[in-house]
Amino acid sequence: MAQIFHEKDASLDSVKGKTIAVIGYGAQGRAQALMMHDSGLNVVVGIRPGKSADNAKADGLKTLSVAEAAEKADIIHVLLPDEVQGTIYEKEILPHLKPGKVLGFSHGFNIVFKKIVPPEGVDVIMVAPKAPGTEERKRYLEGFGVPALIAIEKDSSGKAKDIALGLAKAMRFTKAGVFECTFAQETYSDLFGEQSVLCGGTAELIKAGFETLTERGYPPEIAYFECLHELKLIVDLINEGGIEHMWDVVSNTAEYGGRTRGKAIITPETKKSMGKLLDDIESGKFAEEWISEYRSGAKNFSELRKLDSEHLIEKTGKEIRALFEKE
Ligand code: NDP
Ligand code: MG
Repeated sequence: MAQIFHEKDASLDSVKGKTIAVIGYGAQGRAQALMMHDSGLNVVVGIRPGKSADNAKADGLKTLSVAEAAEKADIIHVLLPDEVQGTIYEKEILPHLKPGKVLGFSHGFNIVFKKIVPPEGVDVIMVAPKAPGTEERKRYLEGFGVPALIAIEKDSSGKAKDIALGLAKAMRFTKAGVFECTFAQETYSDLFGEQSVLCGGTAELIKAGFETLTERGYPPEIAYFECLHELKLIVDLINEGGIEHMWDVVSNTAEYGGRTRGKAIITPETKKSMGKLLDDIESGKFAEEWISEYRSGAKNFSELRKLDSEHLIEKTGKEIRALFEKE
């Protein structure tokens, strides 16, 4: 079992009065900067001019260039997209990463795959919320928090864990529970989860079901309801009480059909494929592919985005969701 930290295990003392530079103001940067700011921490945002910078200013936060923020900060919390972190780090962060400073992340990708190799004398920590930014902020404003992981890669000061827990407490993650793991565990399992189950697996499962129905002449609207729309209701049940709770709530017919037929869809072959994905993640093969795809102009990636966005399920979905829009 992983060790779990709660409110009483963490203190803001380790981070109070320190300057925390949140680098990037997107999904995570915005949520995390605002939560830490609202909890009384001294937050500055390191960001290039543009939409994110405008958002930060409109939210009442102090904005600086990435380099200026890194120079001023005691804690440099890097919330840029993973694929750009390496380049920005070399140019704008590394020159200011003096011994005694703390380098923080919400995903271990660049440390684990060595796109960022921090110098001696700094602490390297991770505070990784297990939720999208909007959800984190919503829970914080409700007075509660989302669960998170912390990891310590380098503890030069001997205080790295207190600092990670302090940041987690400021964002109210300790209200829900903070699990300690290693950078490698977080990075590999996060990539595996999003590829095989959460994003990749689910998207393909939905499309395969939708295509099977529409190719046999069922109206796309009906296929959309059955294979996409209702998925949220099912996932909410699973999230609330586990898979067995979902079986309790659906009809006996759905339960019998699901328990007997699901295994024809996710077969031992599927699990072998999952193992192969995990192999490529652990060996670094996936990371190399993604970074070189991004650095060479992301042509394949753009092609995939275009192809998927032209799928009939997207057109059908747009029409159906418009019906649900509030007047
Ligand atoms: P986003 O894409 O939402 O935001 C990225 C931010 O970085 C934007 O503010 C963007 O500003 C800025 N940025 C991009 N390129 C540059 C650049 N060259 N120079 C300066 N600023 C730049 O990223 P996420 O919040 O999704 O991800 C941040 C980190 O959080 C990643 O490590 C990710 O793995 C991790 N994470 C993300 C989760 C999520 O739910 N999204 C969940 C948990 C962890 P601009 O508007 O100018 O482009
Ligand atoms: Mg994830």
